[in-house]
Amino acid sequence: MRSTLRYKPQMRVLLLTLVFLGGCGSSGPDPGATAGGERPSRSATPVPAPTPAPDDPPAVPAGEHQAFALAIHGGAGAPSRTLDLARRRAYVRSLAGVLREGCDALGRGGSSLDVVERIVRTLEDDPQFNAGRGAVFTREGRHELDASIMDGRELRAGAVAGVTTVRNPIALARAVMERTPHVLLAGDGAEAFAREVGMQPVPNEWFSTEARRESLRRAIDAEPEHGTVGAVALDRDGNLAAATSTGGLTAKRWGRIGDSPIVGAGTYADNRTCAVSGTGTGEEFIRHAVAHSVSARMQLAGETVQQAAEAVVHGTLREGDGGVIAVSNRGDIAIVFNTDGMFRGACDAGGRFEVRIWEDAEELPE
Ligand code: ASP
Repeated sequence: MRSTLRYKPQMRVLLLTLVFLGGCGSSGPDPGATAGGERPSRSATPVPAPTPAPDDPPAVPAGEHQAFALAIHGGAGAPSRTLDLARRRAYVRSLAGVLREGCDALGRGGSSLDVVERIVRTLEDDPQFNAGRGAVFTREGRHELDASIMDGRELRAGAVAGVTTVRNPIALARAVMERTPHVLLAGDGAEAFAREVGMQPVPNEWFSTEARRESLRRAIDAEPEHGTVGAVALDRDGNLAAATSTGGLTAKRWGRIGDSPIVGAGTYADNRTCAVSGTGTGEEFIRHAVAHSVSARMQLAGETVQQAAEAVVHGTLREGDGGVIAVSNRGDIAIVFNTDGMFRGACDAGGRFEVRIWEDAEELPE
């Protein structure tokens, strides 16, 4: 019997939210977009699949890379299709704002690591999303936050779990990566480390919003809350990075840790293959090492990022578990989910720029 925390199965109802907001370097509708789903990834065309051996250098040598690509998500729950226009617009505006900023930064030669951290940080401060401010409540009516970040150059990674007073868990995750010999700090140790690196604590109530409190009231039998945030990017130097941050699942038990701070489950980046951020039922993502599986399929089976993401999301995971965003070291973007919807956006050096919520989409009116 599946847990009541699982996402609802996908329903094929034609609806909503495809927004083209002008591109990075070009504007206007994306001619490659399809009405029935994601724009076909360039990886769907016969691009030779990367099959590097573990010690191979990155497929594209640093410094010779002109492509850049970015994908973001704001959770793969089951946002109600009755979501009113004002809220849809607000979500889309937020996602488009961080996407544009990130895309511009990558276009100027910014690093993928800086871009993914910056995007996730901004979304953590945005109360619409289940990360940082706006995080869901635990069963006890508190907030326990998880985050991780990974640098695809040398597989460096940092993560924090169960933090309760750290305003931007993704920034702390990066500090773990850069300023400690460790990968994952949890609970009190993570809090102490935050003080050590000069992060001022915020009261736990700082993360609370009325909407999430209402969700807790309905929580035990209700749909899970959506809104975990993530970003994956390829920069002009050919470096990949991934970042994910969440409040977890509504009404989670004390001490529960999901996939988001688990490297290989909710987050992974390896310059030889791809960068991945996941969202969904964390327990399933941990069991199946979802983010690493996408990378491993590319590396060991020679699949494209689209093939690998589809195999994991539609083959390994079960309907309703969630989805992933991934970008390959060639700049191909894969966005695959098995839920009703996923807040998401993508842009690249070729002028793609789009934000969507549900699978089937129509342009959101101004
Ligand atoms: N994956 C997150 C967790 O299980 C929740 C989500 O993505 O919505 O903690």
